[in-house]
Parts: sequence; C-alpha cells; structure tokens
Amino acid sequence: MTAPDGWTAREIAAFRRKLVAWSTRTPREMPWRGVADPYRVWISEIMLQQTTVAAVVPYYQRFMARFPDLASLAAASEQDVLAAWEGLGYYSRGRNLHRAAQAIVSQHQGQFPRTAAELQNLPGIGRYTAGAIASFAFDLPAPILEANTQRVYARLLAYAADPRTTDGQTRLWGFAAALVPAAGAGPFNQALIDLGALVCTPVAPRCPECPVKSLCRAFREGRQGKIPPPKPRQKPTEVHELAVAVRRGGRWLVRQRQATERWAGMWDFPRLSLKESPSPSQLPGNSVLKDLHAATGLVTGAIAALPPFSHSVTRYRIRLSRVVVDYQSGSWRPPDAVQWLTLEELAHQPMPMAARRFVKDLLAGGWDPDAAGLVRSAGPRSLTGRQKRPR
Ligand code: SF4
Repeated sequence: MTAPDGWTAREIAAFRRKLVAWSTRTPREMPWRGVADPYRVWISEIMLQQTTVAAVVPYYQRFMARFPDLASLAAASEQDVLAAWEGLGYYSRGRNLHRAAQAIVSQHQGQFPRTAAELQNLPGIGRYTAGAIASFAFDLPAPILEANTQRVYARLLAYAADPRTTDGQTRLWGFAAALVPAAGAGPFNQALIDLGALVCTPVAPRCPECPVKSLCRAFREGRQGKIPPPKPRQKPTEVHELAVAVRRGGRWLVRQRQATERWAGMWDFPRLSLKESPSPSQLPGNSVLKDLHAATGLVTGAIAALPPFSHSVTRYRIRLSRVVVDYQSGSWRPPDAVQWLTLEELAHQPMPMAARRFVKDLLAGGWDPDAAGLVRSAGPRSLTGRQKRPR
C-alpha cells in the first residue's frame, strides 16, 4: 500500500510506532489530558485556539469549577459564560460554546455526537476541533491538523509552499488522514501535537533528538529551518478611541455592546471614535463633552482624565484615551441597553479587558478631585485646558 506523497505502509507503521513510543517516554501533563470526556476535551480545545497552554490552564480550571458539565453550561446565561471567558479574548468562542451546549441538549438529548461530521455541525466546531474530540474522547480514527501538526507534516513532506493555502490544506489533511491509525488515534494525535510543541518547534527544531527524523524529508534535505515559510506580517491598523466613564452618584454608566461590534454582549463604558488621540493635556475638554452629548444625549461635566494606553485586538491596535465625567442631565439615546452600576457590581459583569482595567483604575482612586480635596469643574462651559489632572 502506498499513502499520499509516496509513503509506504512500512514507513507509516514505523512513524506511528516511533512517535507513540517517544510520547510515552515524554508525557506532557495538562489538566485535560488522559480524560476521555468529550466535554472536557471540547472546552480545552476551544480555549487553546489562539491561546497558549500556560494561559489556558487557570481559565480552564475556573471554567470547569463554574460549569462542570454540559448541562450546567447549557443552562447558564450567555452573560455568565462571557464573564467566565473574560480575559481569554476572541469572545465568539465563548458565545459559540454556549450555543453548542444548548444545541447538544436540545438536538442530541444531551449526548455529544460521536462522529467528526456531526460535531462539525455544532457552532464553533471546525474540522480540527471535531477531529480532536472524536479521537481524544472516543478514540475514533479522525485526523487533526492545527498549527503544530501542520508544521510537522509540512516538514515531514518537505512541503515548501504556504501550508495555509487551499492546496496546502488539501495535501496536509490528506496526509494526516493516511497517517492516523484505526486504533489508538487519540494518543497518536496527542503525540503529534506534543512533537510539534516540544521538538519540531517553529524556530530551531531539535531534529537530532526527534524520534521520526529518519522519516523526515526536510531534515534529510537540510530544509527544516525554511519550512513552513514565515507568515507574512500584517501591519496593525491604528485606531483611536476615547472611553468615557460617566458617574451619577455612586453609579457608572455601561452599555452592552451590540451583536455587530467587537466584544458583542459585553458591558463597556461609552466610547467615541477619534481621528487621532488627544494629548493628555487636552483632556477632559469641552469638545469631549460636546461629542459625548451629540452621540448619546447626555449632558456631563468633566472630572478627570486617566492615562491612555494601547492594546491590540485581532489586527487592530487601539489607542484608548480615558476620561471621567459627572452626569448632569439628559437620557441615553442610542438603541443599546445601558445600566447604572456601582464599581462593585461591575465586577460581576462581563467586560472587555480595557474596560476592566478602567474599572480597576477607578477603584484605585487618585483621579477624583473631590476625594483629593481639589476643586471640581462646574460643568462643560467652565472647562479649560488647565484642569487638575489625576495623579
Ligand atoms: Fe521536525 Fe526535525 Fe523531526 Fe523533521 S526531523 S519532524 S523537522 S523535528
């Protein structure tokens, strides 16, 4: 028998044997390993998308404590799920997780579908995750291809083109399907991921200690450092925004971000889009209050500016300026839901990390002229560029 790319049955058998033997000698401890529970496999795999193992572990443990099984996740509110997901980023993962849990309960009597094809019909489950659940939890011979295995396979075949292209994906998925064993697919796939993470690393792969080096074409040809080719770097798009914390008594205005926005469903301080970031000495200023009034209908008086910071979201680099204002009059005009909450109550709402940081800075104090014994502005008309600045 000859597999795609010219591998013989003997070579495939040798590859499986060497890989699994290496993995048995080099076990990798993770809280979701060695448990043939599709729910735990699924949660860990979704969390691991775009996120490192080290970052995922504490989130996974907290998530499991909060939603120990499929039924508890399906019965939760989306807000509770987003709150548990807060900080992991790519929040559509959390929303899809919730929707998929509800679909499994309503359409599959609470039992995980077992085939990769059925799994892929669930929200947020693509070909890789379906293969991971089918092989890790059910030990079905489902192939996988993610960043680590993609790199390993590309090097084994000396596939020098971009493996992310349609041609690359077709070829590597075909190879993965030929290599996955009929029995023991779970340990085999885990071992592949580990080989990519520990030995066949993106930079400086440790080929001399690789258990499958005798079968690796890139190593034979000395091309392992050039395969796969580096991803073209995309320059981030600069975005300038202003977050406004509006205080009314001891409560703060937050709005729920809409379905079409990033961080959909989460609670955030109102934001204004800016053409460019103002210098700290320009904040808070009359124009901010006017813009806020025009955008929301609220009349406010400035209190303070907090230091700006930058953060990245997908391909955007957001420069976030921040001001604190006092509510004076007017009603919130935009269609999105709003709440007036204390800072303590905000601790229980799902918020984007930039908003969470704003809450922490508000809690830390130091920005409030009243608390500092300083004179506060009487309102928008009296504002000048020489207001007291926060410490
Ligand atoms: Fe990767 Fe080197 Fe092993 Fe080939 S020999 S699979 S390039 S670590």
